[in-house]
Amino acid sequence: MKLLSVVIPVCNEEENLKTLFAEVQSALAQVDCPFEVIFVDDCSIDQSLAVIKDLAVEHPQVKYIAFEMNTGQSAALYAGFQQACGDVIITLDADLQNDPGDIPAMLRYYGDYDMITGWRKNRQDTWSKKICSIVGNSFRNWMTAETIHDTGCSLKIMRADMVKKIKMFRGLHRFLPTLMRLEGARVIEIQVSHRPRLHGVSKYSNWRRGFEGFHDVLAVKWLQKRNLSIKMKDMQ
Ligand code: UDP
Ligand code: MG
Repeated sequence: MKLLSVVIPVCNEEENLKTLFAEVQSALAQVDCPFEVIFVDDCSIDQSLAVIKDLAVEHPQVKYIAFEMNTGQSAALYAGFQQACGDVIITLDADLQNDPGDIPAMLRYYGDYDMITGWRKNRQDTWSKKICSIVGNSFRNWMTAETIHDTGCSLKIMRADMVKKIKMFRGLHRFLPTLMRLEGARVIEIQVSHRPRLHGVSKYSNWRRGFEGFHDVLAVKWLQKRNLSIKMKDMQ
């Protein structure tokens, strides 16, 4: 690993960003590898962009992209992936619910695996959110022959060249393990910690997530069926 790129989508997270950067910095100090942090501001209407700009002035590792319109989490991730210079891309939410302290342990699997995805086994969210997540993940797994318990966990580590090939569409961030497998990735799911949201609010209702997720799973199933799995026999 030569460079780690941490990609963080941001929509109205002003109170979380400084603490988040400090936590990322101290977690990655345990890893002997340079890093960059790319904040993608999805047209926040609070002071998030101003806070990100302050961080960029203070810390040379900080880069940012600012969207003109709110375009969604998948778009923010996609833009961050394309901008990333690292060999390895790490994603997490900006809301401090993911703990960057989990990153060093996850990175130990890198090399044997091309994607390490978090599983918030002890999830700190409302009961309704947890139940919807179990139903959503079970349905998604059944439809796509997957075994991932928690595809909604944003804490993920991925091989940059593979994830950059994925053309993202709205909502597809929920299918990254499957989309990475279509690129040939070896995927492992690791238990990570999870914390309650202390500042700001979730951007999704259970209805919205459920409705969108149902349509998206049909698209991903189609992609799986139609995937070109080319195996070369010979070449000159
Ligand atoms: N987010 C974004 N654009 C959106 C919605 C969310 O950039 O339109 C960001 C948000 O700031 C957070 C991450 O995506 O960093 C996940 O959103 P959130 O934490 O609200 O979702 P939840 O964890 O509740 O599912
Ligand atoms: Mg979140």
